[in-house]
Order: sequence, then C-alpha cells, then structure tokens
Amino acid sequence: MSRNAESTAFRSALEVIRAVEPRVADAIGAELTDQRESLKLIASENYASPATLLAMGNWFSDKYAEGTVGRRFYAGCQNVDTVEALAAEHARELFGAAHAYVQPHSGIDANLVAFWAVLADRVESPALKKAQVRQVNDLTEADWFALRRELGNQRMLGMSLDAGGHLTHGFRPNISGKMFDQRSYGTDPTTGLIDYDRVAEAAREFKPLILVGGYSAYPRKVNFRILREIADSVGATFMVDMAHFAGLVAGKVFTGDFDPVPHAHIVTTTTHKSLRGPRGGMVLCQPELADQVDRGCPMVLGGPLPHVMAAKAVALAEARRPDFADYAQRIVDNAQALAEGLLSRGATLVTGGTDNHLVLIDVSGYGLTGRQAEQALLDSGIVTNRNSVPQDPSGAWYTSGIRIGTPALTTRGLGTAEMDQTAELIHTVLTQTTAGANADGTPSKAKYTLDPGLADKVAGQATDLLATYPLYPGVDLS
Ligand code: PLP
Repeated sequence: MSRNAESTAFRSALEVIRAVEPRVADAIGAELTDQRESLKLIASENYASPATLLAMGNWFSDKYAEGTVGRRFYAGCQNVDTVEALAAEHARELFGAAHAYVQPHSGIDANLVAFWAVLADRVESPALKKAQVRQVNDLTEADWFALRRELGNQRMLGMSLDAGGHLTHGFRPNISGKMFDQRSYGTDPTTGLIDYDRVAEAAREFKPLILVGGYSAYPRKVNFRILREIADSVGATFMVDMAHFAGLVAGKVFTGDFDPVPHAHIVTTTTHKSLRGPRGGMVLCQPELADQVDRGCPMVLGGPLPHVMAAKAVALAEARRPDFADYAQRIVDNAQALAEGLLSRGATLVTGGTDNHLVLIDVSGYGLTGRQAEQALLDSGIVTNRNSVPQDPSGAWYTSGIRIGTPALTTRGLGTAEMDQTAELIHTVLTQTTAGANADGTPSKAKYTLDPGLADKVAGQATDLLATYPLYPGVDLS
C-alpha cells in the first residue's frame, strides 16, 4: 500500500467532513496528533490499520440487516451478507472455531449474547421451549412468570473483579450480577495465581450453570483445559471471555491448554484490543450453541453494524497473515521486558511478572493509590489506567494498582530496549510523586505532588522515545 494512498484517503475524507462541520474534522485531526504524541500503555487499546479504519467509514453504515446471512428481516442485504460471511469465515479459520457470530457491537454485548445462548440452551423450562418454537401466543401468564423465575435465577461462577475478572462476569453493578446468582473465584493470596483446586472446590459447592474463564487484569496464562474439566465435573457450561488476549490466541502464542477455543463451549471476545481490529465483539461457539448465538440480534442486540463487520473482515484477514504471529510474540516479549525493567528498579508486580500482554504494578509500594499514580503518569505523558489489585485495600475506585499493556506500543514498533526505557520513565515518576493530604490533614487517596518540571522532562523523554516509531507513518494530514 503506498503511503500516498493512505494520506490521500484520510485527507480527502477530512476535507469532505470539514465542508459540513469543521469542528469535527479538527477534532479528528487533533486526535491523531494526541495519539501520536502519547506513550499509550492502556492494555485494552491498540491502533487499527488504515484499511480497517477505512472499511468503517462508508455507506455500509446506512444498511439495516437484522437476522443472519441469507435470513434477514430486511431486503437488499446481499453485500452485507458478503462481508458478514467473510468476517465469520476468517474468524472460524483463524481461531479453529466451529461457529462464529460477528455481529456483537462490543465485548459486553458479546457476553450478553453468550449468556442468553447458554440460558436458552440449558435451562429446563417448558415455557421457554414453547417460546423458542415461536408459540409465544400460547404462553399463559403463569408460563411467563415461570419463565422469568427460571431464567432469572441461574448460577454463574466467574473470576472476582479484584483478581482481574471483568464487570460482566457477575459483578453486582453489572446486569450479569443482577441476572445471575453469582459467586467468584479469586487468586492465591501469596502467589497471585489462580488456584485451580479452589476453583474446583467453589464449583463443587456452588454448582454453577456457567463457569466463566477470562480476565481484564490477570497477567498470567490460564489453563483452560483444567477449567473445562472443572466445568464438566459439575455439569456447567464453560464460557471464556478472551477479550483481552484474543490477539495472543490468534497469533498462536497461547496454544494447547492455554488456547480457550478447543476447550470452551462458548468463547466471547472484543475485536479491538490485542486483536487490533475495529471496536466490536464476537462470539465463537460449538455447534450445539450456534442456533441460539445467531439469535443475538434482535434478541439481545440492536441492528448489526455492517460497516464494522466489513472492518472486522479486514482486520481478521490481517490477523491470518504470518506477520501477525510475529506481532503477537513481540507483544509478550515487550510485556516481559517491561516487567523486568520495573522489577529490577524495585517495583512490586502482581504475580511477580507476566506471561501475556499486561503488567499490574502494585503502587502501594510507592506510597500511592492507583488514582494518584495514574494522574501523575498522565501529567508526564504516559497513559495508563488504574486497576484493583487482589484484596485491594483502596477499593475499586481509587485502587492500588496501575495496569499497563504493550499491544499498542508494539504496533508502533517499539521493542524490548524501549520497554526498559519506558520502565525507567514510569519508575522515575512514581518515585518522585508523593501522596497528598485533605484539608483536615488526613491522607488523600486522590491528591499528590509531582514537580511539574520533572513531569515535563519525562513527557519530553517519552516523546523522544516515540519519535523513531511514528504512528500511522503513511498518513500525512498536513
Ligand atoms: N470483557 C473483558 C474481559 C474486557 O476486558 C472488556 C473491556 O474492557 C469487555 C469484556 C468489554 O468490552 P467492550 O468495552 O467492547 O464492551
């Protein structure tokens, strides 16, 4: 692809937008500048390719396409069928999955589709059976009452939020925690690792309908073969949310016991994190759940977004290329170099290191909360996010952790040497930041002091580090 073509495409698009609402064109341009200038260590973000971005900005967005390929509730969906079928085919081939549903608009939506599919497949309910075969009008008020009671009172066992699980794995403020009677499994307090015997014990006691594996902030590999055995031993459906590490599965860094696809009944993911596609979600499943999963829209989801499915097809085609495996390996090499760099300078890391794309720093060792550390790093041009650590004394809002991840910087081309320099910058900021106090003299969880001169100096060093690795080098908007 010539650099000229990319520049021309984005420049022309901005010109067209500018003619209608120049402030939007300006904001889009400013966002590119900001992204180019920041050292992005947010573990859940990445930079999609120009081809993926361009596949989203077109008239596919105008089309309604409820239903699935070849079975739509709207006429004229032949071209949507083409891109949806392509995206699903790439997903099946890439992950070795029996079935792929590429319509979910996000990871949370993909999880809702999966929950519905498992409930519909597993819950023994005569009322539900009637509803499924579209005899909805035959259902009495008593049937509806029974159906709500049966569907709304099932059990889910997932990883706890402070051990690295996601909100949608049954955490109370999320709909999953309200729909399901939920218990969670944590990690070993000494090692920070999943204790599979404890998970098995919790499963035996609780007998969940769904056992959820997967995480947002666990820096290690998960043995999905063992989790499947645990699920089987109690008759649970095994669901894995691989939103964070889908790119490592796609790039064959996680194989065998650590690849969820052969082990889980159903796998959900986002497409925009380590997988480096457009913002969106997907569900992969075994054949027996395919029918229910395909009911995602309109059962759970609003109308599919054909322009995003087109972009998913492009990004998944990219992930099937051999160089994606190299990218995935470099993500992990970089995360390990970053972890080493931090450890050698005295930082405390949850689990003492990483096997994947993320590192979780326990910043209480620096006398800070996650909130203070996140803000001080941001002042210094380093973008991270605060995150709970196991048994976090500062709670889910302030937290004691900083989560950092390498998918985005690896896309820019930074390598292990730059990760060591990044570790130095992070360590410098955290050692030079001091926790502040409230007006009444009590320790504040939010206030901090950091010499602005030092913050500026680090921000300059971060910019220098990025200068050799331009973001979207083919895009010149000037
Ligand atoms: N599942 C996991 C494990 C996640 O980490 C996230 C996002 O952070 C999601 C689901 C939700 O994804 P989305 O923001 O696309 O809905």
